Amino acid sequence: MTGQTFGGRTALVTGAASGIGAACARWLAENGCSRLVLVDRDAEGLDKLDLHCTVENRVGDIADEQFWDDLAPALEGLDHAVLNAGIGVGGQIADHSFEEWRRGMAVNLDGAFLSLRAVLRAMREKEASDGRRGSVVLTASITGVKAVPGIGSYGVAKAGVAHMARIAAAEQTSQGIRINAVAPGGVDTAIWDSSQDFRAGVAAHGRDATLAAMAATTPRGRFATPDEIAGEIGFLLSDAASNITGAVLVTDGGYSL
Ligand code: NAD
Repeated sequence: MTGQTFGGRTALVTGAASGIGAACARWLAENGCSRLVLVDRDAEGLDKLDLHCTVENRVGDIADEQFWDDLAPALEGLDHAVLNAGIGVGGQIADHSFEEWRRGMAVNLDGAFLSLRAVLRAMREKEASDGRRGSVVLTASITGVKAVPGIGSYGVAKAGVAHMARIAAAEQTSQGIRINAVAPGGVDTAIWDSSQDFRAGVAAHGRDATLAAMAATTPRGRFATPDEIAGEIGFLLSDAASNITGAVLVTDGGYSL
């Protein structure tokens, strides 16, 4: 995608300090967005992004309702949102502590709800004032589509995120707001470092070999890059996807086939 598809537009990205979110922030700036509101709990990671547009960094926890209430004025005029922040939580259901289950749900599902509610409120106001349409993409996961063992509360929360996108799309389509989700398979980002098995693999064989071994079980034979996922999210946000809403785009290199 090239040119000024997003010329003069304002976008929000959560989880923008790293991985897929950082790639989305870069993609949106490169494709013409004039103002980005970037959210993450990692202030240092946000500061490292070097983007050629107006950027407002907001450090906070997406699972904190007060954070979204305080952010509301900054979301006025919002055209696009990538609701992407999330954490990795592993373990089999039978072994999960309730505390760990809640920790995953708090960020990956409650946080997605609070984020979506805040941006829909801002976009409804915007549509009333200037008639331009908004679009939103939530980052779900292939683990919310396919039952992957050992993924704990993560896969359940991501199934909820995907269905939240569908329900919100059904509610908002007549208002002209489009809401979609992406469901990536493995992507080479820092999220994997939260997995004990992954860290053990890295300690024994190095990061590249560990990723390669995991990806060897997939048809494509490698993990996606954050930039690949960002391009797909950018397409769903863009006017080129004007007839797509309530979709959950599986982007897993054939893993789930
Ligand atoms: P990442 O760890 O590189 O980035 C996640 C970002 O979210 C980090 O900057 C982190 O600080 C931020 N974050 C986490 N919890 C937060 C909170 N409560 N409040 C604010 N910020 C918070 O990982 P990533 O792979 O880029 O993850 C992005 C999204 O993609 C996540 O929702 C993840 O579940 C999803 N996803 C990742 C993969 C993968 O293999 N990497 C696959 C499918 C889905």
